[in-house]
Amino acid sequence: MVSRADISILIAGAGPVGLTLALELARRGIKPRIVTQTDGPVSEIESRALGVNARTLELLEPSGIAGQIRAQALPIEGLQLTSQGTPLLTIHTNKFRGQAPALSILPQGATERLLLAQLRTFEVEPEWHTTVNTVQGGAEDPEVTLIRKDDSGETVKPTILVGADGAHSVVRKSCGFTFPGEALENDFFLADYAYGAPVDVSYARVDFTNPGVLGCIPVRANLLRYISTLPDFEDRIVHPHDPVEQTWRSEFNVSFRHVDAMSIGRVYLAGDAAHIHSPIGARGMNLGIEDACWLAWLISEGRESEYSALRLPAVRSVLRQTRMLTALATLERPLALTLRERLLPLMAYLPFAEHRLVSGIAGMDTPHPPWIARTH
Ligand SMILES: Cc1cc2nc3c(=O)[nH]c(=O)nc-3n(C[C@H](O)[C@H](O)[C@H](O)COP(=O)(O)OP(=O)(O)OC[C@H]3O[C@@H](n4cnc5c(N)ncnc54)[C@H](O)[C@@H]3O)c2cc1C
Repeated sequence: MVSRADISILIAGAGPVGLTLALELARRGIKPRIVTQTDGPVSEIESRALGVNARTLELLEPSGIAGQIRAQALPIEGLQLTSQGTPLLTIHTNKFRGQAPALSILPQGATERLLLAQLRTFEVEPEWHTTVNTVQGGAEDPEVTLIRKDDSGETVKPTILVGADGAHSVVRKSCGFTFPGEALENDFFLADYAYGAPVDVSYARVDFTNPGVLGCIPVRANLLRYISTLPDFEDRIVHPHDPVEQTWRSEFNVSFRHVDAMSIGRVYLAGDAAHIHSPIGARGMNLGIEDACWLAWLISEGRESEYSALRLPAVRSVLRQTRMLTALATLERPLALTLRERLLPLMAYLPFAEHRLVSGIAGMDTPHPPWIARTH
């Protein structure tokens, strides 16, 4: 391994991806600078990502937090698909034969707090309330202007600049990256409900409401998240008990986009800054954490120039898959709805198809990280 301890690395964004990158570098003796415009991790109540897959747990094992995530997370047994309440198919994620469950549920805010706590053990603290305002000089010689909450500013010229600053990445926009793709017309809606007593949290459920879809994901022993394409979805929810309160409600739109190159010159992108897609399949944060782990490993090996070529195929493949699953979940034409109802139950007789699906949910359909010994 080449010595990179003196290299100056600036990470823009301390979401799950920026925090993972900082942690993976710090544990290898490379201390990055990490700046972020927020004052701390995202609130647990307003967490977008819930699903943590087996690949992420495998990747976070060396930094010592996979066990902590597993201790707090809710493992999912499978996914039940119904059509207007009639059972179509159950996908048994508990058939996944890995060291970790294929999919566990932990709100993004909790994951970020665990990453942050571990990062602090290496004496790296994100610079909160610090915004990347502009990047000038182009990707070959980036000059980053930072603005703090008290309006003080600073200009930095890092050896390596990483944009982990989310879907609206200033780094991406300033450094000549293209971000082609398309947006879905329909909005998606979500609502989280807390109950006064424990609810069934073993399976996630998706009901095709024809047209439209209503999904239900267990979050905690007494908390469920509903996601739908229907504006009136709250009227259609059959609550297991009377809900005590709605803890969060949100609307979001879905785009499928990824950059044509994950790096240009001395600038690298990871996570939502580089790729965005629908939450169906629970891949976004997991894929971004995977980017971060690969980039940290490549930097530590002096091989960061290989990052884009190594990561883009995985990104393209996951986007193709989520686009296909999203199209399947949001079908509208009557003939397509009928075909879906007829064909999905047949998958129960195709163990190979279920195996492939579960492997994708576990995140094991991307290349194995070479720095981690195979256990499966
Ligand atoms: C409803 C929903 C459900 C989802 N569920 C899942 C799921 O179950 N599993 C999954 O894997 N993914 C899921 N996702 C996707 C997941 O939330 C994102 O992929 C993930 O948050 C991306 O992490 P990130 O660190 O790249 O970006 P972000 O989480 O957006 O973090 C970016 C950080 O950069 C900071 N920042 C932004 N601009 C600047 C700037 N100019 N200067 C300094 N700092 C800046 C922000 O404040 C933030 O802290 C879901 C998404 C949605 C909308």
